[in-house]
Amino acid sequence: MGKNTTAMTKHIFVTGGVVSSLGKGLTSASIGMLLEHRGLSVRMQKLDPYINVDPGTMSPYQHGEVYVLDDGSETDLDLGHYERFTNSPLTRDSNYTTGQIYQSVINKERRGEFLGKTVQVIPHITNEIKSVIAKLAEPGVNVVITEIGGTAGDIESQPFLEAIRQFALDVGKENCLYIHLTLVPYLKAASELKTKPTQHSVGQLRGIGIQPDVLICRTERSLSQDDRQKIALFCNVPLRAVIEEKDKDFSIYEVPFSLVENGLDQLIVDQLKLHADPLDIDDWHELMRRLRNPEHEISIAVVGKYAEHRDAYKSIYEAIDHAGIANRTQIRIQPIQSEQIEQEGAQRLLAGYDGILVPGGFGERGIEGKVQAIEYARVRGIPFLGICLGMQCAVIEFARNVVGLAGAHSSEFDKNTPHPVICLLDEQKSVVDKGGTMRLGAQTAKLTAGTHAHECYGRDTITERHRHRYEFNNVYRQQFEANGLVIAGTNIDGSLVEVVELADHPWFVAVQFHPEFKSKPTLAQPLFAGFVEAAVVRHM
Ligand code: GLN
Repeated sequence: MGKNTTAMTKHIFVTGGVVSSLGKGLTSASIGMLLEHRGLSVRMQKLDPYINVDPGTMSPYQHGEVYVLDDGSETDLDLGHYERFTNSPLTRDSNYTTGQIYQSVINKERRGEFLGKTVQVIPHITNEIKSVIAKLAEPGVNVVITEIGGTAGDIESQPFLEAIRQFALDVGKENCLYIHLTLVPYLKAASELKTKPTQHSVGQLRGIGIQPDVLICRTERSLSQDDRQKIALFCNVPLRAVIEEKDKDFSIYEVPFSLVENGLDQLIVDQLKLHADPLDIDDWHELMRRLRNPEHEISIAVVGKYAEHRDAYKSIYEAIDHAGIANRTQIRIQPIQSEQIEQEGAQRLLAGYDGILVPGGFGERGIEGKVQAIEYARVRGIPFLGICLGMQCAVIEFARNVVGLAGAHSSEFDKNTPHPVICLLDEQKSVVDKGGTMRLGAQTAKLTAGTHAHECYGRDTITERHRHRYEFNNVYRQQFEANGLVIAGTNIDGSLVEVVELADHPWFVAVQFHPEFKSKPTLAQPLFAGFVEAAVVRHM
């Protein structure tokens, strides 16, 4: 691997065409994974054309989950794919939006850094974009993969596309590779795949001076040799650079395999003249073997506010799958709308599940349904994992139904509750801005010996990511412990409760942090692995 350390960093730009939601994030992550498995050091980055400074203040309906990094940045959910597929360290430099780019340029203008010049999209905004790309090209990094959000032809994407075009002029075309992900739809009426949308989309890119080097074609059906030749000819790429990425019904973790079958890793290595090792993806073959040959089958209910929206709990669902892989278990995940539990009752909606998970969230809607789901799991001894708001609801449930504190609540939802068992963090009391102001990012916690959490992690201290404003109210700590709540983890000085469990329950663990962000298909997160193991035991 050392042979690449002095070579100049190469850049791969991934753009998307025809329609959104083609899986650009997954494809970029898969490329990163393949290059790492050829012994290369990779950095991943996403540039988002929207004007929000970050997705932290966006509704999950708009944007899906907000993915939190160790350094506390609130980022696009594609970064979750990057972390699950690669070992590229992600930081605030891994995700920029138009909002951040403009904010930075405007701040420079206010400081007089442009010396009286008219500040313009070209060159000032494009320079700023190029500088955030170049930032990742540190010594020792072989390849930076930069994914451009949006679709070629969008007004918002233009400055980003212009910047990546210029980038090749700055560092040399031989050091850059443009990969365009496109759709080749199948038209039933004509019984054929259609290449015209791809031709148009590549036309858009060529119109602004970018000739894609590689086309990755998303398709329902296999491309024929004719289709490939047509795409190559009309889009001006070598035949070898027309890569098929057929829809994967079984698992997203199959994507890298189909790219390898089409020769993509070798094509990239050849085109960028990288000194790479032969591909070794044994660990991923093992993962697929486990996925295809489960020994158990269980079902888990995820009770949340946005159950109908799969992207809202993306990392939660992935982490459950990873725990399934670790436990050789096929898991049917059933999202359940917490509001529906309020209307139809927990018994009707939750009977028969082997485990219940309540994820994080904000806002009052559906809170009582979550509390009812937790009561159901507690009383019936069903394995339960509560995350962030899920832990806060578990504390509320325990206060009301075990300790007998009528009307106990979080002050987030009831300012006048007689028992604010969850209350605002002290550091939050004077905060007025909504963006980037929560308790965010990696924090260390110490675990209590003899608890499930300690057993899962097998260690005394852990570091997990946070994203919350409210916390367990220590005024109630002794009263709760006297009634059977176990404080299984706190921050290092003991002042913030991080993990609670129930003494009298087979497996009930609730955490203030977000363990789902650090789970990988090849390395399941310990709490998720323990939760699924407990669910398998219950099922047997
Ligand atoms: N709304 C709660 C808080 O801010 C929980 C946040 C979450 O679940 N991420 O503390």
